[in-house]
Amino acid sequence: MSKIKKIAVFTSGGDAPGMNACIRAVVRTGIYLGYEVAGIKQGYQGMIDDNIENMSRHSVSNIMQLGGTVLKTARCLAFKNPDGMQKAYENLKKRGIDALVAIGGDGTFTGAERFSSTYDIPVICVPGTIDNDLYGSDFTLGFDTATNTVIEAIDKIRDTAESHDRLFFIEVMGRDAGCIALRAGIASGAEAIMLPEKDTAISELIDLLEHGAANKKSSSIVIVAEGDKNGGAFGVAKLVKEKFDFYDTKVTILGHLQRGGSPSSFDRILGSRMGYAAVKALINGDNRKMVGLRGNEIVLTDLKEALTDHEFKLEDDLMEMSIILA
Ligand code: ADP
Repeated sequence: MSKIKKIAVFTSGGDAPGMNACIRAVVRTGIYLGYEVAGIKQGYQGMIDDNIENMSRHSVSNIMQLGGTVLKTARCLAFKNPDGMQKAYENLKKRGIDALVAIGGDGTFTGAERFSSTYDIPVICVPGTIDNDLYGSDFTLGFDTATNTVIEAIDKIRDTAESHDRLFFIEVMGRDAGCIALRAGIASGAEAIMLPEKDTAISELIDLLEHGAANKKSSSIVIVAEGDKNGGAFGVAKLVKEKFDFYDTKVTILGHLQRGGSPSSFDRILGSRMGYAAVKALINGDNRKMVGLRGNEIVLTDLKEALTDHEFKLEDDLMEMSIILA
């Protein structure tokens, strides 16, 4: 029998669509199973500031369709110091909170692992980040919505590119991982995709674009992940323009619009599954683990293992298709 009485949920680090579905699932599953549930505002900052509210089934009504996070999120330097952690622990204790569900990225997980080991408070983490770059889950919360948002934007840019015979370089999020760039590029029929994981020579890109121009393509779209080694979309555009001046060239940085928007059905279901699974895991006595989706199964991975450096690899078939289908 679990000794837990009160579970608190919070979101931390970068926000991602689907976090609200997850918060809702944690609150409703916890209450359904007879536990008290609290919501901590602004992640670790709210823990330190005692910005914590008791939640009811009603307090998470009508939030499923909202982007962002109703609990707000923050980056909190003070939590990295022992004094900050101690203050956070005292606030949790004062409120009778004896277990945590943390929704965020690897920084959030690192904080959760340290906090839980120091103060012996059980924690289960949920991977919430649009970048899809966490070990232990095939998909992270928010990635599907962000990719759909990018595709919608590219489709719109394609209309104007086509009308004016233009070459567009579109920069999408992904400093270390090109997941969004790769999928959005394939799904929108981009002529080329520049990824942090792959060195594409500018001469190779120019060959591709020249081939397209020779075949009377009236527009071209090149997707550039922000972590591309040539300096992002502006860097690539400059290098290409120096040698290939066939098209009128434009650069679009999609930026933070990729983080917002109503979550896709996939992220709503994933958030709900992960929130439900996180509460069940705490009740089963699991600790310092992250919930993930592998295949179509919800699985738990030790936080320590999730946080160890693993080689990150994009899918081989998608990589090959990005060339064959372009
Ligand atoms: P993400 O969770 O999206 O990776 P961050 O890297 O900004 O985002 O981490 C979120 C928060 O997690 C940080 O603002 C900080 O409060 C906490 N955190 C990150 N690293 C540590 C650490 N080494 N020790 C304690 N807390 C940490």
